[in-house]
Amino acid sequence: MSALPSDVGPGVDPEVPQRRQAPLSFARLRSLWQRWFLWLLLAVLVSVLLVTVVWLAGRHEVEQVQAALDRDTADAVSDLRSGFQRNAQSLRASQVPGMQRAQWSDTAAALLREHREWLRLEWRDASLRPVEAVNTPYRMRILDEATRGPEQSDVALACAAARKLGAPAYSPSHYVPISGGGGVEVMELCVPIDAGGYLVASYSLRDALIELVGPTLTRGQEVAFTEADGTRLVALGTSRRTGTRVFTSQQLIDLPGAALMLRVDGWRAAPDLFPNMLTALVTAISIALVSVLVLLARDTRRRLRAERDLADALAFRKAMEDSVITGLRARDLQGRITYVNPAFCEMVGFSPEELMADAAEAPYWPTELAHEYQQRQARRLAGGMPPREGFESVFMRKDGTRFPVLIFEAPLINAHRVQTGWMSAFIDVSEQRRIEELSRASQERLQASARLATVGEMASLLSHELTQPLAAIASYASGSLNLLGPNTTGDQGEVAMAVKRIAEQADRAGQVIRSVHDFVRRRDRTREAVAPQALIDAILPLVRLQARKLGVIIEVVLEDRLPAAMCDRTLVEQVLLNLARNAMQAMDSPDNIGSRVLRLRVARAVAVGGTGQEDGRRWLEFSVADLGCGISEEVAERLFTPFFTTRADGMGLGLSLCRTVVEQHGGALMFEPNRPRGTVFRFTLPAAA
Ligand code: ADP
Repeated sequence: MSALPSDVGPGVDPEVPQRRQAPLSFARLRSLWQRWFLWLLLAVLVSVLLVTVVWLAGRHEVEQVQAALDRDTADAVSDLRSGFQRNAQSLRASQVPGMQRAQWSDTAAALLREHREWLRLEWRDASLRPVEAVNTPYRMRILDEATRGPEQSDVALACAAARKLGAPAYSPSHYVPISGGGGVEVMELCVPIDAGGYLVASYSLRDALIELVGPTLTRGQEVAFTEADGTRLVALGTSRRTGTRVFTSQQLIDLPGAALMLRVDGWRAAPDLFPNMLTALVTAISIALVSVLVLLARDTRRRLRAERDLADALAFRKAMEDSVITGLRARDLQGRITYVNPAFCEMVGFSPEELMADAAEAPYWPTELAHEYQQRQARRLAGGMPPREGFESVFMRKDGTRFPVLIFEAPLINAHRVQTGWMSAFIDVSEQRRIEELSRASQERLQASARLATVGEMASLLSHELTQPLAAIASYASGSLNLLGPNTTGDQGEVAMAVKRIAEQADRAGQVIRSVHDFVRRRDRTREAVAPQALIDAILPLVRLQARKLGVIIEVVLEDRLPAAMCDRTLVEQVLLNLARNAMQAMDSPDNIGSRVLRLRVARAVAVGGTGQEDGRRWLEFSVADLGCGISEEVAERLFTPFFTTRADGMGLGLSLCRTVVEQHGGALMFEPNRPRGTVFRFTLPAAA
């Protein structure tokens, strides 16, 4: 079972030689397509699922990174806001009413040392003219008196807003070029003071980022101030690495008088297939899933192969069960028939449905034996083991005929080694019995033939031995006749007559012996044309002798102008004599009170009795009828069997010899009941041409 057709599913080795090249039928193609389609669908679904899960996991991670970045940005914005607020407050605190210029300068210088983000602090009067100004010690001077008059628009804008609000206000950022090249992005803070006038702080935006935002924010990412339209003002931190993906978060820092955007660009290595544990886990599970699928496919393939093998085995078993001529039947432990094969159904003539119907008695049990069979079944179900060599039983066909069967029974054991019932095999032995009967009959015939042969031998011997005394009787008789002389009268005449009869009978006895001798020796028999009247006349004296003793009346009827019969005269006379004797003996019984008539009749016949067919030859029919006891059916069956007799002194050879003699002449011997009683024996002989 190594070779399989290639449609068992995915993964079958195409190199395996195919055992059967069955043409692809439409149904087979369809089932093949269905199977492949299902597998394809499953593979596509699993792939879609895996891609979706990996994509979702990646997206989840991106969202997480984005969310962290947004959080960091929001923190930075709030840091910046509170930093700006604190700075404004400390600037405001640097001025108290009545303060001298020199005194403020000291305070401002101290403040500038503390706040690196400031480039310059100015004290201006109500008309924005500078009163006093201090520059940061950390930088070379960028802003000077020349550029910072009362007309300077940025400061004017901020202070106008501050005055309107009565609180610190900012100017939009502006670019201040440096003489040696480059420049600084600057934003003005204007704080109105109680004594009238303003305190102005110039923020370097770049330094504000450095000082007011936590240093962790700039690690691995770029932080920048941009304008509302996205124009980058100042930037800080790591620049983008190649092969990385950028995450951007920007938030508005809404300051009074000015609006700034804080933008944070974070870098992450991208694109990453396993960005984090979750994705890795999902991927691992997906791989496991695919592996399980592959294993499942293999298992399915093995199952299909097993299924096919099983189907093959089943088909083989069914073909075997259907082809055997032995009847098979399975019964469960309750005695119900659970299986029958076609041979069994044919044997008993019932359909499987009729046999498996839930009945107390099986339909093929002969009614008269049903009780006995029920007991036998009960014994079997109780665990009684059947004989190993089987046993004989009689079953009944649906048409009611009985037939002998040979039964072999064995326990039915299932896969768990538990007995679930009984399995029986049946052989119809009726044909076997018939053959046995035939052989017994032929055996009997053989034995009879052997005995007949012995009788033949004895007859030869007897005929040989009797010839001498018979010849002696004949010569004594003729001697006596010679002594008596030719003209005898009175008592002497009577004696001469008797001696003459003795001589005749001795001669006849000699002829019979010779005929029988020839017959037994199967010599060429002498066939001659003999008139029927002559045959009857030859036996009549002997028949009359016995008839007189038994009180039988003899009637002889011969048709006119009968042709001569072509026969062995002596043997046919013996046949007639034998039939006449049997007929008279049949009438010789004390019960037979009616008339005793023996009728001998010869007539023309149309056909031979045996074949019943006309063959163009002319035939003569001899019949011997009696009014005796008749022949019963049992006697009739064995009438012509050698050595069968109902008489104590009988040999049982007469009729069998008669038939042999008639059949050797080409005729037939038969018998039928006579009316009103008795029997008629008839035989046919060919007429002379
Ligand atoms: P046998 O005369 O020695 O008994 P047969 O072969 O002549 O042997 O006859 C066999 C048997 O046939 C007889 O025993 C007798 O029972 C029966 N039988 C023969 N002829 C007649 C008959 N005409 N009527 C009744 N029974 C007869």
